[in-house]
Amino acid sequence: MNVPFNKPYLSGQEFAYMATAAKNGKLSGNGEFTKKCHAFFEQRYGFRKCLLTTSGTDALEMAAILLNLQPGDEVIMPSYTFVSTANAFVMQGAKIVFCDSMPGHPNIDAGQIEALITPRTRAIVVVHYAGASCDMDVVMTLAQAYGLLVVEDAAQAIDGFYKNQPLGGIGHLAAFSFHETKNIICGEGGMLVVNDERFVKRSEIIWEKGTNRSAFFRGEVAKYDWVDIGSSFLPSEMNAAFLYAQLECLEDIQQKRKNIWNCYYEGLKGLADEGLFQLPDALPYSSENAHCFYLVCQSQAERNALISHLKALGIHTVFHYLSLHKSPFYLQRHDGRLLPHSDRFTDCLLRFPLFYELELTEVAAIVGAVCSFFEKKRLKAKRLVAVF
Ligand SMILES: *Cc1c(COP(=O)(O)O)cnc(C)c1O
Repeated sequence: MNVPFNKPYLSGQEFAYMATAAKNGKLSGNGEFTKKCHAFFEQRYGFRKCLLTTSGTDALEMAAILLNLQPGDEVIMPSYTFVSTANAFVMQGAKIVFCDSMPGHPNIDAGQIEALITPRTRAIVVVHYAGASCDMDVVMTLAQAYGLLVVEDAAQAIDGFYKNQPLGGIGHLAAFSFHETKNIICGEGGMLVVNDERFVKRSEIIWEKGTNRSAFFRGEVAKYDWVDIGSSFLPSEMNAAFLYAQLECLEDIQQKRKNIWNCYYEGLKGLADEGLFQLPDALPYSSENAHCFYLVCQSQAERNALISHLKALGIHTVFHYLSLHKSPFYLQRHDGRLLPHSDRFTDCLLRFPLFYELELTEVAAIVGAVCSFFEKKRLKAKRLVAVF
């Protein structure tokens, strides 16, 4: 067996659409395919305004600019997340206040947020880890009570839902990613979602290098000027064309991924019930978007042994985030609070191959390989009991 962790999927129309974009003579951004992608999300999920970006990181950076942070303003977010979630806000002068994960799930423990709010708190950033929803009613209620803004890092959360609301459509702002490791891809790419009317106009200006060029092209202003800060956040039509081909196959891609996810889950549930490892808690308010399948081992040593065991069989599994509050960059800036759940996911979480072309027979073989690892461990434990 030789199963990679990820394999980017091409739906078939990507290059044809890129050729169309090239023939249209419009290779730079905000052309026909960019508009088609925006319309897709706005119509399917009811997002107020969408802006494609060159990465999820860029979308987060745009969100951070829109918050208009002052030096020393505080932003609360989980420690168990990708570096860009924090970096975007640090670049705007924010102090990051890291919150722990839930005991049974890497998502932010919404019940711990209120105690972290101070007069300097400006925003809460939630990360829908593996596309599973954070407890958004709790987060939005807190935001309302304390006058805070909410940014959803929905990088992994395309087509995920909180109760019946699409993820990315709940916070004031949200960021998606179309990096090749996500469900829907265009190599490097992302999207900012603006749900709060107050940010709509400025978001477009920041997107267009601080100019009112979009308004100019709509005929709303006579000339376009430099009116604000901004950068080159918009991707080329090549990327948008590629992305649009993927979006047309969203249902098929999601169905395929969900079948794979369910196959893992059904295969491994029994061992989890025996207590050999943890599967993520099923969150009653969250739908599964099958971004990622993972389990949580009992120790780091065991996780690393399992990685080696699977690797020897040609199966490539990977761990994930290193808690940001312990990173070389932030350790000295962190206030010293212990975040034990975040650390445990750092040490013990293991992600399995999950991509469109992964066959269910391969998933069954991977499940079998995990079973054989724990079977060996059980035999060893029995031998020890026999010795004593
Ligand atoms: C992938 C990811 C990002 C960054 O997206 P890029 O498109 O790679 O810049 C940010 N946050 C989370 C949670 C992610 O998974």
